[in-house]
Amino acid sequence: MPIAAEPQQAEKSPPKVSAAERRWKVDDFDIGKPLGRGKFGHVYLAREKRSNQIVALKVLFKSQLKQSQVEHQVRREVEIQSHLRHPNILRLYGYFYDEARVYLLLEYAEKGELYKELQKCTYFSERRTATYISSLARALIYLHGKHVIHRDIKPENILIGLQGELKIADFGWSVRAFNRRQTMCGTLDYLPPEMVESAEHDANVDIWSLGILCYEFLYGVPPFEAKEHSDTYIRIVNVDLKFPSIPIVSPGAKDLISQMLVKDSSQRLPLHRLLQHPWIVQNANPSGVYSV
Ligand code: AMP
Repeated sequence: MPIAAEPQQAEKSPPKVSAAERRWKVDDFDIGKPLGRGKFGHVYLAREKRSNQIVALKVLFKSQLKQSQVEHQVRREVEIQSHLRHPNILRLYGYFYDEARVYLLLEYAEKGELYKELQKCTYFSERRTATYISSLARALIYLHGKHVIHRDIKPENILIGLQGELKIADFGWSVRAFNRRQTMCGTLDYLPPEMVESAEHDANVDIWSLGILCYEFLYGVPPFEAKEHSDTYIRIVNVDLKFPSIPIVSPGAKDLISQMLVKDSSQRLPLHRLLQHPWIVQNANPSGVYSV
């Protein structure tokens, strides 16, 4: 399955092999330990033999992509992610394929998955949360500037780099935002009212999801969680937002969340204003790095 007209070569560094030199094939890599397992394949640590560059090699089985009818989604993911360059967005260096598989060459995120870190800590401190949220806001400002909406911001789709910086990954649900879209996608807990109601939506969906993320970082659970999907749905459309008394969270953080989780998407706090919010200014490390 060709996922674009021409097999794309890895750009710039790493790995440092120009398109003119060769096309990638699996023999160009030493395959190391498995990093994880996704729905459609496996991810391995790999080293490009010539340049010695370390990458994460994601191996997807074409048969499974076809069966689940997600070839289009993968193609879109590759097309969008390969053009993005931001310290808080996971790089996609390139891809290649053979008869049975598609291989994605991804930046290696040394410190693994954010949701595991959150599970380990139960919830994060205000400094850590503010640092993470401001770095994600900067990444989203960059994305929206390129007319890309992520639409699936949640802990499972965020990795952590060597310095402790966050990397948005998984662009499977992202779209180029030239038109307002009406597709239902993503996990219910993170979806804004306009998406659970299958109404038109725009880049402001990502502000809502960032608000959900901020809440989950501080409290350890997403705000509209419920036993039944139907109850989560009702809580989202009514913006049934409650702040538990434990853990103790400062009024500034609650104010920020309340300004992001607003039903009318046009009234959500714009991301550039989020960066100026007093709670962010007082708590976030401007470098976006949080070392544990
Ligand atoms: P995915 O198929 O993208 O869900 O990836 C499956 C798992 O592999 C993830 O949950 C991560 O644990 C791991 N993984 C994927 N991509 C990377 C990466 N670029 N760097 C480090 N680990 C990764």
